[in-house]
Amino acid sequence: MRHYKLTLKEISCPVCHCTEVHILYSVTSEEAVYHVFKDVEDQRFLQLKSHIETLWQRQTCDVVRCVNCRFCFAYPYVAADKRFYELVYSRSFYAGWKWEYQITYEILYDMVIHSNQKNLKLLEIGSGDGAFVKKVSPELIPKENVLCTEYSNYGRSGINRYGITCLSKDIREINSIEYKGNFDVICMFQVLEHMNGIDALFEHLNWLTRKQATLFIAVPNFKQREFYDINGVLEDIPPMHIGRWNKRCFETIAKRHGWIVAKYEIQPQGFVSKAIRFVLFRYECNYTLVKQIRRIRVRPIRRLLKAMWLSLCVLASLPAINALGSSKLGVSQWVHLRKV
Ligand SMILES: [Zn+2]
Repeated sequence: MRHYKLTLKEISCPVCHCTEVHILYSVTSEEAVYHVFKDVEDQRFLQLKSHIETLWQRQTCDVVRCVNCRFCFAYPYVAADKRFYELVYSRSFYAGWKWEYQITYEILYDMVIHSNQKNLKLLEIGSGDGAFVKKVSPELIPKENVLCTEYSNYGRSGINRYGITCLSKDIREINSIEYKGNFDVICMFQVLEHMNGIDALFEHLNWLTRKQATLFIAVPNFKQREFYDINGVLEDIPPMHIGRWNKRCFETIAKRHGWIVAKYEIQPQGFVSKAIRFVLFRYECNYTLVKQIRRIRVRPIRRLLKAMWLSLCVLASLPAINALGSSKLGVSQWVHLRKV
């Protein structure tokens, strides 16, 4: 069981602009690298560590929670940049079809097939390997009506080969006049938690979209992340994840920028997959120990120690696993915003 620090600090919340936060926990640059890149022997480990310290201008970063809207964010509130993602995602590990893709696809299907909204224009921000747009286009939306952004070369080249334009740009840099008021639908799946400059982002989304546009956002489920935190598994590690959203945060930011929350859902998830995920994350989260095990050269000994540590993790996780039966602890939360 882990306890938050809960030290009170005066920092402005990016979502509701309240100026009081509690510090939940702190992360070192080495922990931050290890979280996204486990191979400590790889020279990119040190490159990433140095790059993160440049981003933070220090060696540690706090994660704080607004006392008003309970938005959790990194302080310094700095997002990972293109260089960071190039180092991290030189290999591809995309998850395929996801829950948030399916519920969004069903709404788009309804808009196009049942409500006869033909010729929609769609923008997906942070498209990964294009799993979502390849399903939606050309079935529901012509390829020439879809625009994607993606930093990873692997993901971007695959989407471009498929015939959909994919740019390696921050969405706030897409300001060519042809895109002003252009889009009916914007999708941001597992992207918003990586971004800072939230007001500038929503101002730009307003610039990019037509009246009554639709915005679909999926981010990690804050309830699951809180559960993980207090059970010793930190998953929201800056500069990768710098914002932990909840329904109230979405309502606050939507209202300020002229949107409404049309629908909000938490991912339903089976108990077994939740339990396996939790144990594996718990295994990895003892950073110092797992690092030492990985460095052991003699394979049978390394495997034996891995098995012993995994067994201990399973045993230590049993009390927490019991609580994972709750329907509120699925991986993701999803929100459907409508421009008013
Ligand atoms: Zn707030």
